[in-house]
Amino acid sequence: MATLEVEGLAKNFGGVQAVRGVSFAVRPGEMLALIGPNGAGKSTCFNMLNGQLRPDAGRVRLLGRDITGLAPRKVWRLGVGRTFQITATFGSMTVLENVQMALLSHHRRLGGLWTPVRRLDRADAEALLARLGMAAQAERPCGILAYGDLKRVELAIALANDPKLLLMDEPTAGMAPQERVALMALTAGIARERGIAVLFTEHDMDVVFTHADRMLVLDRGTLIAEGAPAEVRANPRVREVYLGG
Ligand code: ADP
Ligand code: MG
Repeated sequence: MATLEVEGLAKNFGGVQAVRGVSFAVRPGEMLALIGPNGAGKSTCFNMLNGQLRPDAGRVRLLGRDITGLAPRKVWRLGVGRTFQITATFGSMTVLENVQMALLSHHRRLGGLWTPVRRLDRADAEALLARLGMAAQAERPCGILAYGDLKRVELAIALANDPKLLLMDEPTAGMAPQERVALMALTAGIARERGIAVLFTEHDMDVVFTHADRMLVLDRGTLIAEGAPAEVRANPRVREVYLGG
């Protein structure tokens, strides 16, 4: 069974058709890249998948269950994790504390609602940080971390809830090229180990072609291509609208 199935998703913003009838699926352990020029509707899709935006039309199913229009905190509880373009951690707390607090902070960030405080066990948080190559930074305050390390903390926070689906909207924005490849290689490895379906947007085509199992191309709200990176790369329409000939 697909982890995520999206059918006919659509969203209008006062006459602007940001997303028009988008359908696709993501399988467990699969890295699916959603690419397209600025304004194509990628973030709007993400916002409809995690409940931040209610679609005008279409269905979103997680492991066969209809989650269309559910509130973000419910979607999150059902196993949809998300990393953000803007990194949000508590700077004075250590990396370990931020990861342990992940379940709480995520609620605050997503829903603006308080729910009972659940902390991740210290051992689980440490194991997660070790898997992300962050063991040496566990006791450092997040405020002093380099940007690339902060991105790893953000990934740890998203993984703390044991997601079935991970949504990553431009996870490597602002990172140096080698760091981008490293972060996505790590993400791909963890996704495969844990069977997490990953949907990500990315402007760096080297990263996409290296780490995506499959790609979707969005142009002005419409999916214009879907397939393996090599197929999509060779698609004349994609080259025209996105890859620049
Ligand atoms: P992408 O993430 O691919 O760059 P977006 O999903 O952010 O694209 O935007 C798609 C289109 O929808 C753009 O034309 C954008 O201006 C518009 N849009 C996005 N969010 C809103 C909003 N909250 N209100 C009005 N228009 C929006
Ligand atoms: Mg965007």
